[in-house]
Amino acid sequence: MMWSSSFDLHCHTTHSDGALSVEELADAMAMQQVRVWSITDHDTIASWDEAKVAAKKHNMRFIPGVELTCDVGLPSDEDVLKTKGLSRAASSWHLLAYFPYDPIPEGLEKFCEWLSPLRDDRVPRMLEMIDKVNGFGMPLNPDDVLSRAEGSVGRPHLAEAMVDAGHVESVNEAFEKWIGDGRPCNVERPKPSIADVTALVHAAGGITSLAHPRYYGVDYETLIQHLKASGVDAVEAFHRSHTDDDRHRLWNLAKHYGLGVTVGSDFHSFERGHRPGNMPVVVKNLPELIASE
Ligand SMILES: [Zn+2]
Ligand SMILES: [Zn+2]
Repeated sequence: MMWSSSFDLHCHTTHSDGALSVEELADAMAMQQVRVWSITDHDTIASWDEAKVAAKKHNMRFIPGVELTCDVGLPSDEDVLKTKGLSRAASSWHLLAYFPYDPIPEGLEKFCEWLSPLRDDRVPRMLEMIDKVNGFGMPLNPDDVLSRAEGSVGRPHLAEAMVDAGHVESVNEAFEKWIGDGRPCNVERPKPSIADVTALVHAAGGITSLAHPRYYGVDYETLIQHLKASGVDAVEAFHRSHTDDDRHRLWNLAKHYGLGVTVGSDFHSFERGHRPGNMPVVVKNLPELIASE
């Protein structure tokens, strides 16, 4: 059995909610002896071109990736949440998609088309939220919010605009009272199922792995059976947040049901105490397209 710490298949850059640029992250990965690297920014593939260049500089193999926000696939279980010390389950499931070898061009085109509405529908959703905020007697212009976003607009921009307009004292208050999940001015984005997303990724020549299974509050065996039935290829058994027990059980279940395992630091920033790489994984249990050179 060969364990290796040279894979890091889950991290974020400034293209989503990470603190480092693609180049800075490549340097950090190389410094930690990562040899096979994927960037998995949330719902965007904006890093891919830069990352290929940066990886080449360090002689790393780069695997184009993305972390896709999907619908919750199974209800969470109170007992499971309790044993994991979680107060509630994550409000969405995160599916990692990887394209280890040249993607199928037509499939990739479809996938990218599908991915771009995920970003574009942020504007209509934001306009709806601003309408609701106005309806509660807090006037705001759409421009006050949209002009704050460099890339895609999100709730933090709305919260800042509410603070500047004097409607709330802090960004925190904006979320707690008005725009957080389940609050009166929030508008939910419709989310795709992991099965639908996996079908799209497969058609483009890629594979999928369910990110950080610990956070969904679902019994691991039930979860793995659901992944298998949904066509998902692997599970992120070796996530930074996982205890040895999580890793061990997920790894064994994945082997039992014929799924691969993936490994990731989920690096966002040094300030959050994250560290790139240094995540041992059993190479032969990685998905074949990733394990093979
Ligand atoms: Zn995630
Ligand atoms: Zn992540």
